Amino acid sequence: MKFPCPQCGGEILLQEAGGFPVCPFCAAGLVLDLGGVRPHLLYRPRHASTDILPLLRRWCDQQGLPAPSIVSVPRLVYYPFWRYVSAGPPRLIPAWSTLKPRWADLKIPEAEQAFFDPALVARAEVVEATLPEAAARERAGPESGAKPGDLLHVPFFEVGVKVGTATVPASVEACSGQVYVDALPRAAAAAGAGPAVRLVMGALLMLVEAALLPRAWVALPVVFVTAWLTYLAIRGGLENPSP
Ligand SMILES: [Zn+2]
Repeated sequence: MKFPCPQCGGEILLQEAGGFPVCPFCAAGLVLDLGGVRPHLLYRPRHASTDILPLLRRWCDQQGLPAPSIVSVPRLVYYPFWRYVSAGPPRLIPAWSTLKPRWADLKIPEAEQAFFDPALVARAEVVEATLPEAAARERAGPESGAKPGDLLHVPFFEVGVKVGTATVPASVEACSGQVYVDALPRAAAAAGAGPAVRLVMGALLMLVEAALLPRAWVALPVVFVTAWLTYLAIRGGLENPSP
């Protein structure tokens, strides 16, 4: 089987109808499936594993979550995506079988790209592409344009993160530092005093005021004002629950 290299146009001769050939003329990493031959690229990581904790801290801060801690040894994993470039920003469709929500809406990182070369990912794990390009293009919908996608491996640090009392698996994208989780950890630990706590505190305050202010004409208005403030605090807590 012969086909032209999408990079240099040289004619490549292959025995098999699939796999990851390398162009003998320009050394481009390629991917071959029923849809044809496409470039096979990777993004080079810009962050080291020492950046993971600061990145997670910044993310927790933005989400209003308590400070995180790392509870597992981070692993660098390259995940495969079909990349579609049309009028809008490029879209990434997972090229392996996954239902985890964290991969559904990936922002494409600004990163240096290179042709996929096993030597570049020697010390990392690589998830193999198993979803055919045609299936990904169907999933991408009409906005993917008519052009077939490129196969792109994107590096992520996989790490267990403890936030408050919850432990969640997180994927820290190693080019932009963007953090992805399947679901936000519950923010119970970060939330302020709930309505019930406010009610109890207000009632206690009123009791103390009534006990300390013996004259009724002084105590009554003070207790009344405290009751009103407690009511406002509870109502505010119900209308604006903590995230
Ligand atoms: Zn070539």
